[in-house]
Amino acid sequence: MSDPLLPPIMISDVQATMATELDRIGPVIDELGAMFESAGHELAMVGGPVRDAMLGRLQVDLDFTTSARPEQVEKLLRPWCDAMWDVGRAFGTIGARRGEWQVEITTYRSEKYDASSRKPEVDYGDSLVGDLGRRDFTVNSMALTLPGRTFEDPHGGLVDLATRVLRTPGTPEDSFSDDPLRMMRAARFVAQLGFEVAPEVRQAMTDMAERITIISAERVRDEIVKLICAPYPRRGLILLVETGLADHVLPELPALALERDEHHRHKDVYEHTLTVLEQSMEQEERLAPAGARVQPDFTSRFAALMHDVGKPKTRRFESGGLVTFHHHDVVGAKMTRKRMKALRFSNDEIDAVSTLVELHLRFHGYGDGEWTDSAVRRYVRDAGDQLTRLHILTRADCTTRNQRKADRLRRVYDDLEARIDRLSEEEELASIRPDLDGTQIMEILDIPPGREVGAAYKFLLELRMEEGPKSEEDAKAALLAWWSGGETEGS
Ligand code: ATP
Ligand code: MG
Repeated sequence: MSDPLLPPIMISDVQATMATELDRIGPVIDELGAMFESAGHELAMVGGPVRDAMLGRLQVDLDFTTSARPEQVEKLLRPWCDAMWDVGRAFGTIGARRGEWQVEITTYRSEKYDASSRKPEVDYGDSLVGDLGRRDFTVNSMALTLPGRTFEDPHGGLVDLATRVLRTPGTPEDSFSDDPLRMMRAARFVAQLGFEVAPEVRQAMTDMAERITIISAERVRDEIVKLICAPYPRRGLILLVETGLADHVLPELPALALERDEHHRHKDVYEHTLTVLEQSMEQEERLAPAGARVQPDFTSRFAALMHDVGKPKTRRFESGGLVTFHHHDVVGAKMTRKRMKALRFSNDEIDAVSTLVELHLRFHGYGDGEWTDSAVRRYVRDAGDQLTRLHILTRADCTTRNQRKADRLRRVYDDLEARIDRLSEEEELASIRPDLDGTQIMEILDIPPGREVGAAYKFLLELRMEEGPKSEEDAKAALLAWWSGGETEGS
């Protein structure tokens, strides 16, 4: 099931949005343009920021292309910026920051991808038009020359942007054989921008999907992460599955599509998974610190995507037409580990996602709330620092159309969360200790073990509850005051 197309954008709207965005970044780009011009170099804002300015989604990262060589770029930027770094000298890119603005300036290039060596060979180019021709999609091949702000669009990117289409400047076959990663980038931009790929791009992706295997796992992973953290991950994932790219980069996903069984004895796990992903996105505000902007959360989104991958392997047809997936949580967690390892995720990320997959069913043993305190405690302990994400995943995992059933599950989960809150408050209280321990008490009061030490301990505990934690010195003073007062009283 595909999402409906987003409506085309009016060119006049694109122009208006662009004008507003250019006002905002004008001071930066005009100044840079003037600097490069007076040094005798060409400079143009290019690619992502031009596209994003038209879509009204421009951030503070600005990409430029120039006729200047990296050494010359460095020389020009040094007095202008607060910090400068080498993004990849081999690729001719210099990065710099000035205030909130982050710029990357890349020397014109004409790049060919050598399929046998896996390394892009970089040749510096000599013209803006040449540079634009080797870019991935027409919407990324637009430029604004500076300081004059002339719009350059040799491949019709503006029209493709207005109709929300990803098209390659040359033939997609040539483009993808130069750099197969562009197929992943296509799916990523579909997810980020809500665009469609042109039919010939889809065809080339389908025909050439296998070529993605020459790209390093890290670069593929980075595109998967961007795709999943995008506003429309469903669109990008469906494209990966339909073109067969997913068979190479995330085979667990298309395997779920095979699970649709002809008798409709259980839900379509693939469609269910995409819905769980979207339902988990809707809860991301729970992960944002109070007052902070809600950010896409890769861990919980990827856990949603992987939570049922153990189902195909564990499916059993029982008598009476019943279908079971025993231990699909444990099997799925293992498969998740394996996939994330292959994609070179960090151990922390692997642990977090596979913990969530493994625990996603635990709640269903909760029934109507008959868990013991110790079962609740174990749930909290096993989830560790993934507890909030486990709440999100478990709630997202309910995709039934039966409203009463959904309401009931929500209420029972509300109840579990309330119990967790209550219990953790109690447990925190229970774990409060006085500011001084028994040994310190005996030392300070110079008394042997006995009833008096116990009384002093109790006094300090009450004090701790009443007044909160104290420094050792203050606690000692309070203890001594109590001791002399107590002695007077007692005598
Ligand atoms: P974002 O920065 O939001 O991820 P972007 O469009 O700026 O999106 P980048 O990966 O930063 O994408 O690349 C910057 C520009 O360089 C792109 O807009 C595109 O024109 C070009 N580009 C990047 N990678 C490739 C590639 N593999 N093949 C061709 N052109 C590319
Ligand atoms: Mg960029």
